[in-house]
Amino acid sequence: MRIPVAEPDLSGNELAYVSECVKTEWVSSLGRYVQEFETSMAAKCGRRYGVSVCNGTAALHLALAVLGVGPGDEVIVPSLTFVATANAVSYTGARPVFVDSEPEYWQMDPSLLEELITERTKAIIPVDLYGHPVDMDAILEIARRHNLYVIEDAAEAHGALYKGRPCGSLGDISCFSFYGNKVITTGEGGMLLMDDEEWYQRACFLRDHAMSATERYYHPEIGFNYRLTNIQAALGLAQLERLDEFVRIKRRNAALYAQRLQGVPGITLAPEAEWAQNVYWMYSILVEDAYPLSRDELMAALRERGVDTRPFFRAIHTMPCHYRERSLPVAENLAARGINLPSSVKLTEEQIDYICQQIIELGQQGG
Ligand SMILES: *Cc1c(COP(=O)(O)O)cnc(C)c1O
Repeated sequence: MRIPVAEPDLSGNELAYVSECVKTEWVSSLGRYVQEFETSMAAKCGRRYGVSVCNGTAALHLALAVLGVGPGDEVIVPSLTFVATANAVSYTGARPVFVDSEPEYWQMDPSLLEELITERTKAIIPVDLYGHPVDMDAILEIARRHNLYVIEDAAEAHGALYKGRPCGSLGDISCFSFYGNKVITTGEGGMLLMDDEEWYQRACFLRDHAMSATERYYHPEIGFNYRLTNIQAALGLAQLERLDEFVRIKRRNAALYAQRLQGVPGITLAPEAEWAQNVYWMYSILVEDAYPLSRDELMAALRERGVDTRPFFRAIHTMPCHYRERSLPVAENLAARGINLPSSVKLTEEQIDYICQQIIELGQQGG
């Protein structure tokens, strides 16, 4: 037996829609599913415009390009996130500036933002990490006061709510990923959501090689090919039809984990703020000193017992790709202690029982 951390559920209309693309030969980036997926995703988050792209990293890069971020600029990003958040900033020639996390909900700490803002700062990219919304009102208030753009990285938070508002509706531009392990998937894919029509036009233009709308093969500037295919969008539309169901299942699974692991010495459970609906993209725990095994020992022991896990992301500022001398102690501590447990919507209650039983037993026998 092996229980994976993530696997997609493609048992709805996915095959029918993708088959239609093949049968009608609309397999490239023209075709009805691309627009339908964009419109539906935007509607789901209460936004005017959706621009689909080939992956979530491209979505972040395109958002920064639309907002005119470039060389000489600084963009504040959390250190505890997937590396793509920071890489997208570097692609523009701007410099990512790393902010620490808060310990309660594991998100970017808004109280540390102001000391990092300089006259070069152009934007902030808050991330809804592991499916829990970031405290966006606090971030937006600071951004407004300093005239900064906010790009929401909601790549892990499809279906999450912040004070009743959908994640993906909270930034000047919000970005999603539809990678294979995300809450909904197109295999590879991403999307930008926004309300501003000029930004929308500019995102479409830059996504398609910056080709003039009036003169074919005339390119006034350097653009990108970041288009999503009709096949991917077909998959995405079928997945989006099931998002509410997936959210219900993920929240039920989180509740089952929490019931069974409640009170296990040395195990801290995934948090949920009273103002939040966490989608638990990855159901996560922290392994504290009171637990007899280290985080890595627990992961190895679980692997031997057929349970696949992932460590938390590494704090980006500790890696060669974006090394910074200054310590960010909360992010570093979370990164060292966190584990993502199996989180697929296909997980059964028996599997959750089994996983929790292993964590409880290993905690009792001390390895
Ligand atoms: C997955 C992810 C991305 C990037 O998405 P890709 O589709 O893999 O390019 C960006 N930010 C965060 C927080 C992510 O989890």
